[in-house]
Amino acid sequence: MTRTLACWTFAGVWLGCLAMSAQIGGPATLSRRETVQALVNREYPQLLELYQHFHMHPELSLHEQQTSQRVAAELNQSGFEVTAGVGGFGVVSVLRNGSGPTILLRSDLDALPVKEQTGLAYASRARAVDDTGTEVDVMHACGHDIHMAVLVGTARVLAAIKDGWQGTLVLIGQPAEEKGSGARTMLKDGLFTRFPKPDYCLALHDKADLEAGMISCVEGFALANVDSVDITIRGVGGHGAWPQKTKDPIVLAAETVLALQTIVSREIAPGEPAVVTVGSIHGGTKHNIIPDEVKLQLTLRSYTDEVREQTLAAIRRITRGLGLAAGLPEDRLPLVVQREEEFTPATYNDPALTRRLASVFRAWFGDARVRPAKAVMGGEDFSEYGRTRDKIPCCLFWLGAVRPELIAQNEKTGAPLPSLHSSQFAPLPEPTIKTGVLAMAAAVLELAGKKP
Ligand SMILES: [Zn+2]
Ligand SMILES: [Zn+2]
Repeated sequence: MTRTLACWTFAGVWLGCLAMSAQIGGPATLSRRETVQALVNREYPQLLELYQHFHMHPELSLHEQQTSQRVAAELNQSGFEVTAGVGGFGVVSVLRNGSGPTILLRSDLDALPVKEQTGLAYASRARAVDDTGTEVDVMHACGHDIHMAVLVGTARVLAAIKDGWQGTLVLIGQPAEEKGSGARTMLKDGLFTRFPKPDYCLALHDKADLEAGMISCVEGFALANVDSVDITIRGVGGHGAWPQKTKDPIVLAAETVLALQTIVSREIAPGEPAVVTVGSIHGGTKHNIIPDEVKLQLTLRSYTDEVREQTLAAIRRITRGLGLAAGLPEDRLPLVVQREEEFTPATYNDPALTRRLASVFRAWFGDARVRPAKAVMGGEDFSEYGRTRDKIPCCLFWLGAVRPELIAQNEKTGAPLPSLHSSQFAPLPEPTIKTGVLAMAAAVLELAGKKP
């Protein structure tokens, strides 16, 4: 009820601003921005509290029960029709507001097994049991708490100015982004069939090397295909002093690691980005024992499906070839396992949509606060929403989150900035949250706003 009254009040603000703009002859986009800015300022104290609540109560991927409940409650209070439990702890909320485009806005919900070391008053002290049964510290080290505060803020603002746009909003809280599985499970559970199918999907992600108050976006590929591959190099173990009686998997593993580096340098066309990183190598127990096997874990990055396939095929060919060269029998050749369940496809920002959003961001924030971004080799499962057969245009843009003094220090002395997933990552809530809400509202009004 309170919310309904507030909506009318805000609608009054909206109309008042439009009238004022007409009187003074100012551009209508400015009055829109000012209306939204006034609403954002009004909501901010509560959004800050909500952000700090999420920050202090992080939950691991696939364990986002409380987080999901709170997001659902907030969206419900904002006037959205909410369905919980979509693809696990996923939340889908819908606000129908006449005929017009359907726009999906996504926030992720999950946190990471990181022990927070920011020293903030609201730092997380949470601990939880992970999927292997180990007790771990938990922290919102990727800023998904910022994304949730922005999502709720956007819901409130857009519900308050329903007179200014027409269409349907689908705001979702997505679980398990850090495992790369949440978008897939929500889609499998009918995100695009049980609920209005979007014409556009939008998301933002905080950026750990961009000043708070800034926005940045890139057309086309923004983030990479991410594949995880396990290789088990098998040999024939024995005594370290009788190598002639063994097939040493440690030597073979060393050769393999180096040979894998020739995939990017010698096989992929220069100009086609790709990464092959061997992030883990484990084998052996003692100085004088040649072990039976060595285990490698790899992360692979690429943009196109073709380069991805080429890299995977080369890994299979090289590991097998080196195993044969070492004289291993067929049944002891290396095993290569591609972890399909952890794959996330490259995030592709629809160029026309991205250009349209960048231009409205420049109109709302000024040129200096909207920076072009470069594609990076990180990964995001937001990409999944654009890869169904509907081929929905998507855009994920970056939200600056870093204290200006840290950026200045970094530029002056080269002092490193804490990255995403770092125990030191501490986004600056203001103006980050305000900028995020303003940008999301600007995007929706651009795509579904009534012409002033
Ligand atoms: Zn992350
Ligand atoms: Zn993230």
